Amino acid sequence: MSDQHQAPPADGSLHADCANCFGLCCVALPFAASADFAVNKDAGTPCTNLLDDFRCGIHSQLRERGFPGCTVFDCFGAGQKVSQVTFGGTDWRQAPRTAGKMFAVFPVMRQLHELLWYLTEALTLPAAGPVHDDLRKALEDTEALTRGSADELTDVDVAALRHDINALLLRTSELVRAKVSGRKKNHRGADLIGAKLRGADLQGANLRGAYLIAADLRGADLRSADVIGADFRDTNLRGADLTGAIFLTQAQLNAAKGDAATKLPPALSRPAHW
Ligand code: SF4
Repeated sequence: MSDQHQAPPADGSLHADCANCFGLCCVALPFAASADFAVNKDAGTPCTNLLDDFRCGIHSQLRERGFPGCTVFDCFGAGQKVSQVTFGGTDWRQAPRTAGKMFAVFPVMRQLHELLWYLTEALTLPAAGPVHDDLRKALEDTEALTRGSADELTDVDVAALRHDINALLLRTSELVRAKVSGRKKNHRGADLIGAKLRGADLQGANLRGAYLIAADLRGADLRSADVIGADFRDTNLRGADLTGAIFLTQAQLNAAKGDAATKLPPALSRPAHW
């Protein structure tokens, strides 16, 4: 049986709120001309499609205009946090002297918010009860870090933090998947690029960090599978059941292909391009 869990987080603070962000993903991050982005752009340089009010000038045509990578990216709410909390609502155009700091903080905040996403989800899982105290402590500590100053944020040792939290998430995963009866597949870190897994029984499977690029998972059963860090680029999820899949993110879904029959956890939205 899979755990039934609700969407993290209740207040929406881990979902992107572009209206309260200074277009940070469109400025702070670099991108290379590729199938995902039509042009090269350096970190800290505004995308030429970014408007003066920080909206995207080609938002409704991103895929047609060669920017599908922009429809995949998810900041986990880091953009509005940096804009409105760390920098108190003063944007990088108004304060060019601190712009560089803002752009350096953004990727750190994104990683912290990603960890908050996983921790929040883990705390909704009844099977993870034995580690709920540790998860709660890690959540509080990570939240406290996100409220630090810009200098404190750029000094955070994110790699060490990820390492510690990952141990808790791994334990969470084991506890949740132990509730699924029968043999569970272990594809941790596996190369499943282009794999033919149509209709596969992957309930409770370990798919941590698996490469599922362009794999055929049509109609597959991924209930309660751990998919943290799995690469879902162009993975065919049409008709697949991802109910209760743990540590699935919106960015993973956005990168995949699905349809109206794909079953999703309640925390996540059906991508507009499906
Ligand atoms: S194309 Fe639009 S969404 Fe993508 S980086 Fe540029 S302004 Fe941002």
